[in-house]
Amino acid sequence: METREATSPDTRAGAAGALLADARPQGRPASRDDFGRTIDYLRIAITDRCNYRCVYCMPATGVAFKPHESIMTYEEIERFVRIAAEYGIKHIRLTGGEPLVRKGVCDLARGISEIPGIEDISITTNGSLLTRYADELVRSGVSRVNISLDTLDPAVFHAVSRVGNLEDALAGIDAALAAGFKTVKINTVAVRSLNQDFLGLARMSVDRPLHVRFIEYMPIGDDDIELEGDDSADYQSIAGVAGWSQKDTIPTEELRALISSRGEEAGLGPLVSARGHRPDGHGPADYWHFEGALGTVGFISAMSNHFCASCNRLRLTADGNLRPCLFSDVEVKVREYLRAGDDDAVRDAFERALRLKPEAHVTEGTERYMSQIGG
Ligand code: SAM
Ligand code: SF4
Repeated sequence: METREATSPDTRAGAAGALLADARPQGRPASRDDFGRTIDYLRIAITDRCNYRCVYCMPATGVAFKPHESIMTYEEIERFVRIAAEYGIKHIRLTGGEPLVRKGVCDLARGISEIPGIEDISITTNGSLLTRYADELVRSGVSRVNISLDTLDPAVFHAVSRVGNLEDALAGIDAALAAGFKTVKINTVAVRSLNQDFLGLARMSVDRPLHVRFIEYMPIGDDDIELEGDDSADYQSIAGVAGWSQKDTIPTEELRALISSRGEEAGLGPLVSARGHRPDGHGPADYWHFEGALGTVGFISAMSNHFCASCNRLRLTADGNLRPCLFSDVEVKVREYLRAGDDDAVRDAFERALRLKPEAHVTEGTERYMSQIGG
């Protein structure tokens, strides 16, 4: 993919630029963008590689992985976080690709946890390797984990992930709960043609402190994805999912009403707003719960109800570009400056990315796949 590097950093300079320039010497100012939003959260894709090939995330053939030399080293990532912390970044999420397939992820977490100003580290994973890493992640300072799980049906799980198996994901969830993360959240991408058992997934929040969040299916990546495979009806209905289409996004309102009414039918009661029971975190989910449940049910409405006004984040791609908005391919390069040891150029890049955050996003699709951005 060709990066559309932002070339005219000063066109929207104004308040944010001046504020940052004044504040920098004092160290760790709270950064605001041009629209007054506080930006204190950085999501880092530490790899573009993955042991799964989820149909909504990447093509069956996988994405053409970036060559190793273009992937940020851990030293470069840590150095970047140190500089980002000067600008008030406090919360770090490690993602990918699958972050746990990259060796040494716990060492990276430990390194980041020692950077002054960083208050918490979280990770987003498909869960398949958590039985191996959950304890060490906690010991390394990772306090919260999000685990992706789209179905409780083993055949559908295998077809959606193309290579994964449900047992590993469920064992990963058990391991995460046992390891003592502060919060364990489940991420479910809701896709109409997948026929997911939404109540079954939401019900996971009842007996255990799990926060199950339903994410509207987003048009990220090449929309020309093809799924090869057998001709069975199940497989072909999943094949229809590969490649986003509007009809496959289930608006949050519709899904919440569905889960709530099915919950009532099943004797769990309707979903009620979970104000006061919100789990820790820095994301845009709207939380609900079944009365008496240990966990919550959240909804992330990136498509039907933009939460751009409260967006608090920047993203760093695995190949070292800062991405101001998930839905826009405008990116600012930082890797070369880190490699050249030019910290001032890295600071300039950070400030430019801040100024390039759009007021609101358009949902037209992107060149990059989700696995390259990190979600
Ligand atoms: N491999 C890890 C995982 O699956 O959790 C981390 C990376 S993954 C790209 C991050 C999140 O993005 C996952 O929760 C995944 O379900 C979500 N995601 C991927 N493609 C998506 C899409 N088209 N729409 C909405 N969410 C998507
Ligand atoms: Fe891999 Fe996560 Fe994308 Fe699935 S959603 S292919 S697990 S990066």
